[in-house]
Amino acid sequence: MIKYKLLCKNCKKDFDSWFASSNEFEKLKRKKLLTCIICNSAKVEKNLMAPKVINNNLSNNNKEELQKFKDVKKVVKNYQKFIKQNFDYVGNNFAYEARSIHYNNKKKEKGIYGTASKKDLKELKEEGIETQIVPWIEDKSN
Ligand SMILES: [Zn+2]
Repeated sequence: MIKYKLLCKNCKKDFDSWFASSNEFEKLKRKKLLTCIICNSAKVEKNLMAPKVINNNLSNNNKEELQKFKDVKKVVKNYQKFIKQNFDYVGNNFAYEARSIHYNNKKKEKGIYGTASKKDLKELKEEGIETQIVPWIEDKSN
């Protein structure tokens, strides 16, 4: 078994996936059977942004880029901290919870955050439920 870090070019989500072999990965990719766990897009690539790659032999230019990346990461982290403190995490139930608040006119002290598929977001929008997509860095990817 081989674990690859994959990146969805569509929604920018990165995730890990296991394959029997590198051949299996190529085969699935060729048949477009490799899809994003979030938005189902077939535009999934091996994630070349793995830390091992960006930390190797950096030119000055790349160091600047890396610093920018770190700055952005810091901003995103602060943003995440704010969301964690002020919103309730509902995980994969985001669409359900958002509808429940919208249709039952439930007044909540806190907003909610979680994950939803592109299809969910589209449907929510059609129902007049406002959502916002935020960049997210998993804590473990430090
Ligand atoms: Zn995706």
